[in-house]
Amino acid sequence: MTNNEEGIFGIDKDTAIEHFFLTLYASFGVLEDSKKQEMLQMYVPVIAVIVPEGFYFSVCSFHKNQKQTELVRIRSELYPYPIYREQKQIEQFVTLLEKTVSEHNEIAKQLGITYQFYLPQLDTSEWQRAITGPAMLVLFQGYPLSSGEVYNRISIAGAQLYHKKEFIVIEEGDKRTFHLSGCEKLKDNTEGEMKLQWMCYEMKECAELQAVACKKCLPEFVVPILEE
Ligand SMILES: [Zn+2]
Repeated sequence: MTNNEEGIFGIDKDTAIEHFFLTLYASFGVLEDSKKQEMLQMYVPVIAVIVPEGFYFSVCSFHKNQKQTELVRIRSELYPYPIYREQKQIEQFVTLLEKTVSEHNEIAKQLGITYQFYLPQLDTSEWQRAITGPAMLVLFQGYPLSSGEVYNRISIAGAQLYHKKEFIVIEEGDKRTFHLSGCEKLKDNTEGEMKLQWMCYEMKECAELQAVACKKCLPEFVVPILEE
């Protein structure tokens, strides 16, 4: 846990990325399965961690050692914003994102994934929100569902959502969700069908409990798309 120059959500960028994947693994119930985790990572062509002076990307890459080529996740160095003009910043960000997604298509193809990853169209206000760091943008795309559909989401989480670092994990039936302490959904619990189980101070702890983020108070996901 660091404080620091480039803190996002009060944690450093690598921890933020790690937290995201832990939450994803927990959501898909694969916290114990490294093969499936690797597979899930392939459906996340890019994560952008945005800080006030620029952004970092987390991408898949092939790493060659003496014996073999393996897939690894790497984080870029800082891409600094060249000019402090918002329109230019958005252009630079979107151009680099598109380039990154197309590189991911090449990697995915080599691993036998035929899905064509693409950058969804967002309107200017959504890009503005994204580039006003600290924030994290995640593209999760093409994940095959048993229904034959694929699961596509682009999420942009801003730091303002995470100021309160106290998460409440509740259990509803066999499902666990975690919430910010002020969540409306918690107040709605008149029937008492939801049971307070734990209080967590980090998302990682929520992930370890296999709890999924509440859509109401932690609406990190925007533009959900289901396609054939
Ligand atoms: Zn909630």
